Amino acid sequence: MDLRVRALETVLTAKGYVDPAALDALIDTYQTRIGPRNGARVVARAWVDPTYLDWLRRDASAAIADLGYSGRQGEHMRVVENTPVCHNLVVCTLCSCYPWPVLGLPPTWYKSAPYRSRAVRDPRGVLADFGVTLPEATAIRVWDSTAELRYLVLPQRPAGTEGWPEAALADLVTRDSMIGTGLACAPSTPPRPPTPT
Ligand code: FE
Repeated sequence: MDLRVRALETVLTAKGYVDPAALDALIDTYQTRIGPRNGARVVARAWVDPTYLDWLRRDASAAIADLGYSGRQGEHMRVVENTPVCHNLVVCTLCSCYPWPVLGLPPTWYKSAPYRSRAVRDPRGVLADFGVTLPEATAIRVWDSTAELRYLVLPQRPAGTEGWPEAALADLVTRDSMIGTGLACAPSTPPRPPTPT
């Protein structure tokens, strides 16, 4: 894959379709400046501010842009809310559509064929692989991202965080909890190490 991408880039550059400096700038932006901390701030704000939560439910694209997160691969956003009776899981069955402005670049497993097919067929099994076991009574809803519409999962606010400041709450929000393959961290447990990218 690496070689094929390099070959493609070389050909496109030679033909003048691609400016390597622009490519580097784009990759650097999404690799080092934009990442899941943006999404975590959206989640934490929704946890503390009912007016903002209501806005997210009605028009996620605008509510997220209001915090300064917009642009490529995040033009049309929908927030899906986890509750005790329904857990949401996001996948792109076709390729790897992912909300870059709030989560950064997708992890490799998100783009893998096994995740893309199994998330639909056996979401509970996928969650188990990520160490997440939900009560049998909790329904799992799977959302298929597309180039037109991307999803951000709003994880449940962990118990025992009443009165916490927004920034401390944001620290409990992991990338995986916003894809649906994880839960927000409990206040007593240190964050799980991130799954490999
Ligand atoms: Fe896709």
